[in-house]
Amino acid sequence: MRSEGRLWAIQQVTARSIRSLPEMVGGVKVREVFGSNTFDISAMKQKLPKPIFQSLQETIRRGSRLDPSIANEVAHAVKEWALERGATHFCHWFQPQTGLTAEKHDAFLTFDDEGQPMERFSGAQLIQSEPDASSFPSGGMRTTFEARGYTAWDPSSPIFIVEGPNGKTLCVPSVFISYHGDALDNKTPLLRSMEFLSERALAVLRLFGDKGSVRVVPTVGPEQEYFLIDRAFYALRPDLVAAGRTLVGAKPPKGQELEDHYFGSIKDRILAFMQESETELYKLGVPIKTRHNEVAPSQYETAPIFEEANVASDHNQLVMETMQRVARRHGLVCLLHEKPFAGVNGSGKHCNWSMMDSEGRNLLEPGATPERNLQFLVFLVAVLKGVSRRAGLLRAAIASAGNDHRLGANEAPPAIISVFLGDQLTRVLDGIEKGEAGGEAGMERISLGVRRLPEVARDNTDRNRTSPFAFTGNKFEFRAVSSAASISLPVAFLNAAVGEALEELENALKARASRGQALAEAVVDVVREAVVATKGIRFEGNNYAPEWVEEARRRGLPNLRTSPEALDELVRPEAREFLARTKVFSEAETEARYHVKLERYIKDIEIEVEALRNLAATHVQPAAYRQHALLAAAGGGRGAKALLDRLDATIEELEARLNDLAGAVERAAGDGLQARSRSYAQAVVPAMAAVRDACDRLEETVADDFWTLPKYREMLFLV
Ligand code: ADP
Ligand code: MG
Repeated sequence: MRSEGRLWAIQQVTARSIRSLPEMVGGVKVREVFGSNTFDISAMKQKLPKPIFQSLQETIRRGSRLDPSIANEVAHAVKEWALERGATHFCHWFQPQTGLTAEKHDAFLTFDDEGQPMERFSGAQLIQSEPDASSFPSGGMRTTFEARGYTAWDPSSPIFIVEGPNGKTLCVPSVFISYHGDALDNKTPLLRSMEFLSERALAVLRLFGDKGSVRVVPTVGPEQEYFLIDRAFYALRPDLVAAGRTLVGAKPPKGQELEDHYFGSIKDRILAFMQESETELYKLGVPIKTRHNEVAPSQYETAPIFEEANVASDHNQLVMETMQRVARRHGLVCLLHEKPFAGVNGSGKHCNWSMMDSEGRNLLEPGATPERNLQFLVFLVAVLKGVSRRAGLLRAAIASAGNDHRLGANEAPPAIISVFLGDQLTRVLDGIEKGEAGGEAGMERISLGVRRLPEVARDNTDRNRTSPFAFTGNKFEFRAVSSAASISLPVAFLNAAVGEALEELENALKARASRGQALAEAVVDVVREAVVATKGIRFEGNNYAPEWVEEARRRGLPNLRTSPEALDELVRPEAREFLARTKVFSEAETEARYHVKLERYIKDIEIEVEALRNLAATHVQPAAYRQHALLAAAGGGRGAKALLDRLDATIEELEARLNDLAGAVERAAGDGLQARSRSYAQAVVPAMAAVRDACDRLEETVADDFWTLPKYREMLFLV
């Protein structure tokens, strides 16, 4: 009777799944489209005079600053290249602390002395721009009367062209800083951390006799998980529109129990979306490699080939934006929220991370020679030391209201950071700790002259899928990173943490060398010390097991279950000192980040509370009352009477829980940011869950006809 909404949505979905698909993009040759919309090496070579080309390449290779004297010529070349491709506008493309990207377009259009239209793009415009930036979050770094914020070109990330429906825009990847040079964005801290890590890693490489490397870069391959649902369903879910996740919704009879979605064959409609997204991303030079169905129904994953951290981070932003844009064209919505649906898996962004020298060698790749293996061990224990010492900060870097549903909540791994190494490396490190030459029997041994060290080969043992930070053969996988957020901060903190540890290891090695100890011996000793000191962070077992929470407590590992607790880590004195020393953030910048993140947390929860109350008042309660009328009209039969009593009780319960929620919000209202965020986490979030529980019970009793919201069984299973 009143179910046009849901029926209409279902009709839309069915129609869309059988209709021939819009704009098939099949049959492209990847080699021809890849990077075609980027000002990449071949475009530079073609457009720039040789000395300028070389100078720019050197800038990029060393990660140094652009020589201003070549800026005009580079800008000219970029402009020529962009105009040839039909671009009419340019923008500095940057990443404010909203987690999204921002752009303000300017036309190339200007007029010459005779009043004739012409296109201009100067070196100054390439290098710097001054968007009116007063509305971006700054955490007090920039007062409104002094609203100036600058964007400045980051030459280490390729310039690209975005195709719009009716024109093209040249995008210049940029940092965003205040008038006084404070970081207002996510890219600046990442670049700073890369510089720090590079210096520290180079210093260690020098100890191993490397004279040639000029730079070490962190490499990152972020695996992006996401959900796709039909847009018609989305349109009827005010909670998805407002908060990106469902605030009510009963569990469907069939969820992910059968695990029949994981790696299943991909439906045509979904595949069409994936192929079109990939083609768009190929044009932007994003090296998308894999696609597959994930564990939850309607959940998917895509992963690129890894790149240097800064470019990987920019590209991940492009992946998220492109998928959302292309999804709309296909009548779908791409949900990036960490937990859009209760009762099925949430989404993360596993950040595969390693370090690479200038020769392109992976520093976490076990080597073929004893020297390489010694070096490998130093870099490996640097990661253990870094993660162990800065676990709290790494947790803070991934804190958000959304990620709280993934970490430390029900149906989720705990918010404890631990490291998984796998059997083989564990044996190697155990052997070193015990002062044994090798590991277990049967392992190859390499003579080092003084002592013997087991050969370290790529680990082929089973993966531990529950670990938040796992070694996977020749890289680490930081799995606790959120699906929706920029990867910049977690990667920046990790870079800095490992850089700090490398510095300590370097000093320890030098001290031993000055006492006349040979390098190989010194490495074994220093590695042993590190292994002993970081034992607490290593965990090979099931991270989801309740016993682990106990065990972690005994080990003294932080278990920061909510964002407000996690964010406090940022402003501990030793964290501020560390971030300042590694130049990731000045103390003032750290303070500002803390405020921005707390404020964001509070706003996210407030939006959810509003949306939930609204949903209850305008969807759930009306449906319940209709059901009430239906049962009341059914007369006095015993069955109807019993149902009516039960319904009455649930309606009252919902009312009471809504009052509790209102009370919890009110009690928190007067407090300052920090206290408010804590009461939100401790009282408001659970009160919302209680409201949800009553709503979900109503969903299961109210006639399907009366229920105005698309249900899980529809959203997750019909495409
Ligand atoms: P698996 O998780 O099974 O090891 P892959 O080897 O395909 O799968 O890698 C998964 C992700 O890790 C990909 O995005 C890949 O590019 C990335 N990756 C591989 N090697 C590195 C590395 N050295 N540094 C950073 N990321 C890497
Ligand atoms: Mg993986």
